[in-house]
Amino acid sequence: MSSWLQKQVNERPNHPAFYWQDEAWSFADVGREVKHWAATFSSKIPYEEKRVALFSRNSKEMYFSILALWELGKELVMLNTHLSLQELHYQLTDAEVNLVVVSTESVPFLSELTQITSIEMSKSNGVEESLIEPHSLYQGEATASIMYTSGTTGKPKGVMQCFSNHLASALATQENMNILPSDCWLCPVPLFHISGLSIVVRQLVLGCSLRLYSKFDATIVTEDLAEGRGTVISVVAIMLQELLEKYPKKGYSSSFKAMLLGGGPISPKALEQCEHYGIPVIQSYGMTETCSQVVALSFEDAALKIGSAGKPLLGMHVKIVDADQKQLQENEVGEILLKGKNVVSQYLNGEKWQKVKWTIDGWFKTGDMGYLDEERYLYLVSRLSELIISGGENIYPTEIEHVLQEFPGVKEVAVVGETDEKWGAVPVAYIVGDPLITVEKINTFAKTYLAKYKLPKRIYLCHSLPKTASGKLAKHRLTTIEREAFLSK
Ligand code: ATP
Ligand code: MG
Repeated sequence: MSSWLQKQVNERPNHPAFYWQDEAWSFADVGREVKHWAATFSSKIPYEEKRVALFSRNSKEMYFSILALWELGKELVMLNTHLSLQELHYQLTDAEVNLVVVSTESVPFLSELTQITSIEMSKSNGVEESLIEPHSLYQGEATASIMYTSGTTGKPKGVMQCFSNHLASALATQENMNILPSDCWLCPVPLFHISGLSIVVRQLVLGCSLRLYSKFDATIVTEDLAEGRGTVISVVAIMLQELLEKYPKKGYSSSFKAMLLGGGPISPKALEQCEHYGIPVIQSYGMTETCSQVVALSFEDAALKIGSAGKPLLGMHVKIVDADQKQLQENEVGEILLKGKNVVSQYLNGEKWQKVKWTIDGWFKTGDMGYLDEERYLYLVSRLSELIISGGENIYPTEIEHVLQEFPGVKEVAVVGETDEKWGAVPVAYIVGDPLITVEKINTFAKTYLAKYKLPKRIYLCHSLPKTASGKLAKHRLTTIEREAFLSK
């Protein structure tokens, strides 16, 4: 068996490792189960098939499949189950995958993709465990997973995450959050996403327990947090919002340590509420290319550094540069560059990106804009691609979005730049909200809070906004002809 899991099996065989619904496995149980799954897969997947895709929602089968396929030395292409057939076709072709290990429920859906062979995610009985080809994996530069970015700014890019990137990420998290084997990490986020897969890696590397959910259900998670069935949880903003609505009178269990929030910006209002309830939220900044969080803001600092994404984790280096790659001073806004062992060094088939995204001395250009304050806390202001330069002034759409979100009845906002003959570009807003909202009312409201040049020049009322498969706003689609489809009639 490979080193990470074997270490836990040796060191703490009876320690609780994995929870799924009413079932529980110790590390020794997980080790046995994984051997069995590995034997099953080795009888179905030819040794030469180095790369295998996985297509499943969170399930115990998905969890054991990941571990078993790593045992067999496979590179795992983690497919988002919300992708359309066309998007799946693109990723499978790009990753040159022939085999997809797929959950039973999704077999019919995937059968429409004729170029691939589906292998159902199930464990066979009576398979000889000696069939396993032992593989000395979980080490160094071998690719552990290939994960596509969310496609928020364009076509998703395949990110080659190696075991050493994952390891660096887990160790940095341990240092930052003081994770101990006695911790139990709740995972309502998808395993096909780095937010979920990184929890599995932490479990294997740090020896903590993991409780997996098929999907996020605020009632169940709240109950588990109140009853002490988890000490740490990873969430995205929308989950946090739902948890706040369900916050129990008696609060969460005293054993609860931290709520790790990532994936995107959070509204100041939600953070205030967390503070009010005393929920220890750790805000974090990271991306698929950095194998989870690289910058984080502790609960203790949150009140003093409102709006900050925090400080770099152990071994992470952050710098801010201008368009000429010149390093900027504190409080100056520019592109965020990152360096560290958890940052990947290439994209799959990414020759054209190599020079665009990595500097010659190895810094990764995130495409995000922000600044470091005098104490080196990082603040994010925008994506570089979303920056609006209007008559020479920089306008950050998030600033306008935060204002518009405060208008009663507004549910979702996206501000993007539209080309303009006079100003070069102007901000325009797309809004989803109550039927009673009118453009005039929003305009009047916005005027109170925004300088004239930041006021949206046009406001479009929409029935919905374009999203990526991971639920992020895909603003670039609002600058094409496609945007018509989202407008209210
Ligand atoms: P693509 O690269 O395909 O355009 P994506 O960048 O959205 O998609 P992910 O890797 O899933 O793909 O997301 C990482 C991005 O999410 C970051 O680069 C950043 O823009 C945004 N993000 C992550 N954490 C935060 C945060 N705390 N605040 C604001 N934005 C964040
Ligand atoms: Mg990105």
